[in-house]
Amino acid sequence: MDRRIRWAWWASVVLSTLGVMSIWLATMPRTVTMAADTASEPLAKGEFTVTISGPDTTKEGTDSRAFKAKITPLQSSPTYAWSWEAPEGAGNIPAVNFENADTAQTIVKTAHWFAIPDDDVAASHQSTYTISCTVTANGEEHVGSKQWVVFVPVATPEKPWGSVKDPKILITSLNVVQNTPPPNNLWRLGGIAGIQRNVPQPVYFLPAASQFTQKAHVHEERHVLQNTQGVGGIWKDTLWDAQKLYDNVLSKIQKATPQQVRDAVIAAVLEQNGADNITAKTLFQAAEEDAHRVSSDVEPWYLDWYAHTS
Ligand SMILES: [Zn+2]
Repeated sequence: MDRRIRWAWWASVVLSTLGVMSIWLATMPRTVTMAADTASEPLAKGEFTVTISGPDTTKEGTDSRAFKAKITPLQSSPTYAWSWEAPEGAGNIPAVNFENADTAQTIVKTAHWFAIPDDDVAASHQSTYTISCTVTANGEEHVGSKQWVVFVPVATPEKPWGSVKDPKILITSLNVVQNTPPPNNLWRLGGIAGIQRNVPQPVYFLPAASQFTQKAHVHEERHVLQNTQGVGGIWKDTLWDAQKLYDNVLSKIQKATPQQVRDAVIAAVLEQNGADNITAKTLFQAAEEDAHRVSSDVEPWYLDWYAHTS
């Protein structure tokens, strides 16, 4: 071989060997010194992981329990940045309000439900966010995430958003008087006082800060109007009519003793309440449909029986 060619051959061998070595060096695993648990010892620069713990579910309208970002191994002076994501196409504007967005631990204030699919009736009662925390320490940045479900309770007959009891004829006192004129020695009621139609007010079971509280209020108030004014063709205002019962039955009761009058009045009221409760049951489905038709038009336009019309 010519001397110059031999020189060039050796140079190429040396250069390619160096190239292979540098690739080999780059692919070698990096040695990471594990950080000690005590702050006084020097902390490792480099790899760490972020793990998020916290609630899996939170009821809409309430504050969540704490989300925590845990760094392994410990790093000196880490900084935290909480963030969240919701699926694309979600309705009812997803939102997460962190109490603190830059601390190792935080809560979400007033959990907000979003609609997926974005449909009045078909939307799920559960909306799933991804909660993340980005931790920066020693020039490294790592993210930990977890799924978090915000749910609106499914309204059932056993566990409704609100409820209102049916009216009834209620006795608070009875005024029994001697029949006149004597000597007709009998006793009767001296008037309707103490016997009245009782219209219960609604009670509510959603958190006060729930987006659906107003919808529940409008729904239950509609039931009250059905009971007092017969709105929507639901003629429950004609049931449990104390005045009518007094005029037709109670005022005509005459007995030998005051106690016999009281017993007869109580029996007649119980009988009327029982009969009207049975009639009311036949109106139950229509009453619910009417109340849902009204509450469907209250925002948010979701999770009701019908699509909104307003
Ligand atoms: Zn109802």
